[in-house]
Amino acid sequence: MNDIRNIAFIGAGNMTQSIVGGMCKSGYPADKVWVSNPSAGKLEKMKAELGVNTSHDNLEVVNAADAIVLSVKPQLMADVCAHLKEHVDNLSDKLIITIAAGIRMPKYKQYLGDDINIIRVMPNTPSLVGQGMSGLVADDGVNEQDKNYVTEAFNGVGDTLWVEDEDQLDILGAVAGSGPAYFFEFMDSLAKGAVELGFDPEKARAMVQQTCLGAAQMAKESDLSLEDLRKQVTSKGGSTAKGVEVYQERDLHGISADAVKAAVNRNQEMA
Ligand code: NAP
Repeated sequence: MNDIRNIAFIGAGNMTQSIVGGMCKSGYPADKVWVSNPSAGKLEKMKAELGVNTSHDNLEVVNAADAIVLSVKPQLMADVCAHLKEHVDNLSDKLIITIAAGIRMPKYKQYLGDDINIIRVMPNTPSLVGQGMSGLVADDGVNEQDKNYVTEAFNGVGDTLWVEDEDQLDILGAVAGSGPAYFFEFMDSLAKGAVELGFDPEKARAMVQQTCLGAAQMAKESDLSLEDLRKQVTSKGGSTAKGVEVYQERDLHGISADAVKAAVNRNQEMA
């Protein structure tokens, strides 16, 4: 990373641990990273494994940093922000990054002031294994340098994708955020399909997870459309064609479209 700033993470949970781990692995200096958390165990682990600065005091880490990552559960966000607003004078000089699901930018402005610079990031759970898909959206006033800084930070745990507005982030959340659950459901159903025919359950899981990984890697490396990739492995009249026919007859596309709509609606209800 070229742009190195003092960065503070409020909350040392799973997401913070994977993001900071990814940043440090990509060469971000640990002495520029500050993490706060109420309980001690996670901080001790991060200090021992990564060498970052830690504190139980959110104000201490915020005052030490130019970029703040709000990484507490959404239901705690109002209280955490109120505490910062009350005690930190220069919040508008800092870049605010939030990874909380479902809280929109106007709410943060209500909590922290109209003049904050804010970027929302929606990471997903594969970030925990360095294969995340993070969606990002910036408030109008945020400059390119700040956007590049956040992109580089989140590239440490996978891929990043900027979207135009918070509605688009809801769609991204319904696909990339919820998507791992859809894939696990699909993988589970494929594995069970094999087990029903007499296949060993452990071998079924191994077979399905590697097939999924391989297909994703092929899709990532290919210039072909997903439809063409599918056609490439579907010989006319062959066994794959028979299997695909079943999915098409039962309208897999329609089912997925409905699932994404349902998740977007729920995201917006909770906002
Ligand atoms: P998590 O593991 O529960 O971490 C939250 C951390 O916040 C905990 O370590 C908790 O500490 C700490 N905390 C509680 N109160 C605090 C306070 N007043 N000040 C500072 N820290 C405080 O949750 P997570 O999965 O990392 O999620 C963090 C955020 O990421 C959430 O807003 C979530 O919506 C968002 N997100 C998560 C995912 C995901 O896949 N996990 C995906 C997208 C977005 P104690 O445990 O000591 O109480």
